[in-house]
Amino acid sequence: MIFEAVSVIPEVFDPYLDASVLGRARRAGVFEFAAHDLREWTHDRHRTVDDAPFGGGQGMLMKPEPIFEAVEDLSARGTARPHVVFFSPCGAPFDERAAERLSHEERLLFVCGRYEGMDERVYALADEVLSVGDYVLTGGELAALVVIDAVARLLPGALGDDMSAVDESFSPSGLLEYAQYTRPASFRGVGVPEVLLSGDHGRVDAWRRQSSVERTARWRPDLLVGAELTDEERELARRVRAERTGEGAGDGSPLQ
Ligand code: SAH
Repeated sequence: MIFEAVSVIPEVFDPYLDASVLGRARRAGVFEFAAHDLREWTHDRHRTVDDAPFGGGQGMLMKPEPIFEAVEDLSARGTARPHVVFFSPCGAPFDERAAERLSHEERLLFVCGRYEGMDERVYALADEVLSVGDYVLTGGELAALVVIDAVARLLPGALGDDMSAVDESFSPSGLLEYAQYTRPASFRGVGVPEVLLSGDHGRVDAWRRQSSVERTARWRPDLLVGAELTDEERELARRVRAERTGEGAGDGSPLQ
């Protein structure tokens, strides 16, 4: 997989992508990354990438010419035509399903906005426009890093242990992940569920499934709409919801 980003601050990517799990995956050749300075595609002395909006208003907008030239130029390079992703708070919400879909692309080119955003005409270049959430960032670079991180960890070999990306929040069940515990078995008077110490894998699996359903019902009931649940699990979710709307019921978890 080849990731590329076009940005006016191309230096911000490498420190993150060279650290920890992603750094190891990058060095092992699981993915490649290149950042391109948008100013390479300007032709004036000041290397201008922005201009005032027609119709007035605050701030500056990114001009269309450098962005068109950058995307056209980069698309003509290399063997595979890139899948071109723009970022905007107005884009489609990025989620685990989108990460999974993008992980099958050969080459992804991210175009990062800054300032007040971009001239609307640039979106003609986009294969898709993504938002990383309902809030406004100062630029698309963090959004690109979020997407690269979520996609890269799905690539074969990225996590070392290929199973670790399989059984997590949102995937494949559409539910949140079950509660997890590590040593010590008793910490400040709080123990861990006995079943997890039992060594009985069948019971552990059943407990984990139930924990997923409960946690999803408690914190993200919106996810239950698309989830495949047995009648028993639906009833469990309904009970958790009812408790939740009742008087301050909870399981002592800080997440509630
Ligand atoms: N004026 C715009 C926001 C511009 S923010 C508006 O109100 O919609 C500047 C740039 O940051 C955007 O062009 C985009 O590339 C990036 N950005 C900001 N918030 C984002 C978000 N939630 N998701 C993805 N990109 C975002």
